Amino acid sequence: MNQPTIYLDHAASTPVDPQVFEAMRPYFSEIYGNASNLHKQARASAKAIDESRQQIANILGRGAREIIFTACGTESDNMAIRGVAWAQKLAGLGQHFITTSVEHHAVSHTFDQLCAKFGFEQTIVPVDGHGLVNPADIAAAIRPDTVLISVIYANNEVGTIQPLAEIGVIAHERNIPFHTDAVQAAGYESLLVDLLNVDLLALSGHKIYAPKGVGVLYVRQKIALLPSFTGGGHEHGRRPGTENVPYIVGMAKAMSLVQAHQAEEKVRLTKLRDKLIDGVLQTIPDSQLTGHPTQRLANHASFVFAGCEADAILMHLDQAGILASSGSACTSGMPTPSHVLTAMGLPHNLALSALRLTLGQQTTEAEIDRVLAVLPEIINKVRL
Ligand code: PLP
Repeated sequence: MNQPTIYLDHAASTPVDPQVFEAMRPYFSEIYGNASNLHKQARASAKAIDESRQQIANILGRGAREIIFTACGTESDNMAIRGVAWAQKLAGLGQHFITTSVEHHAVSHTFDQLCAKFGFEQTIVPVDGHGLVNPADIAAAIRPDTVLISVIYANNEVGTIQPLAEIGVIAHERNIPFHTDAVQAAGYESLLVDLLNVDLLALSGHKIYAPKGVGVLYVRQKIALLPSFTGGGHEHGRRPGTENVPYIVGMAKAMSLVQAHQAEEKVRLTKLRDKLIDGVLQTIPDSQLTGHPTQRLANHASFVFAGCEADAILMHLDQAGILASSGSACTSGMPTPSHVLTAMGLPHNLALSALRLTLGQQTTEAEIDRVLAVLPEIINKVRL
């Protein structure tokens, strides 16, 4: 019997909201002028960009001049880190970074490259068994030459939400710019940067029901940022390149919609997430939740199952019409455990059994019931 597909991989990507799609539509073939020009078409494009920028600035509680449109979350992270690193180094302020062991590769690989190839140094602060950073560890890692602190807002693999506001106080006491990757948190947590005490914040469209290929970088006005790209004067010279008007409009529309429904959606998803987590832990022997039990994203449930291989679980789920992902990446046929899970102290073998189920706007209780009905059997079947 063919069951309808259940999509539980929203942390990987979300569908485009039909209202977002409709908002974008005119900017493909009706209003297509290059926003840098002076004619009517161009002015209409420029107006759409200005309005989108203002909407996003309002959601972040700051000014429009501090919003830069990019092509994705990865680009936003790269621009923030490279831009601050180079500017601080040029100003002779130092070349030491502080980051954590649970960052997305968009952040960690950027730091790694700056350190391996360009003479920077980094301190990678550890996390506890729930994937949480201790702000005191960040404070202890600060050196006179520290020029940037970067801590992920909420982790993509285990959903743990970090105490950004506390870390931000520590950074600002020492006048150190503070960056966060808010790509996963954006749909579910506050983005008020003054409350979070962050100076740079990266966002991505395709995790919040906008299309793939658009992102945002917030940069506090006082932060010196050397542009990673050079070219025209777009985005106040900080990210040159003709603006992608439909995607910018889509990003602003998606952020506005998510923001408008966030409070009730968070309550709804938390209930479903907890039903899923409790059900899995109660019915599947040797199952373990990964990440923090409460300080975690409302849509995020992640587990490890002793004696199982993630790929086998995912394959059986796929056959049952349930689309999910794991925490581990497979490189040239050799499964490698996720750096996030190993940083949290999970043994290699257990880390290779990770399952991530991430809920979204379309997720229903009936879908959660179906997962709870089929998953115990699948785990039993694939257990070695
Ligand atoms: N940061 C985090 C935490 C993510 O989960 C992702 C995507 O999975 C990214 C950055 C990269 O975003 P993008 O796919 O828009 O480049």
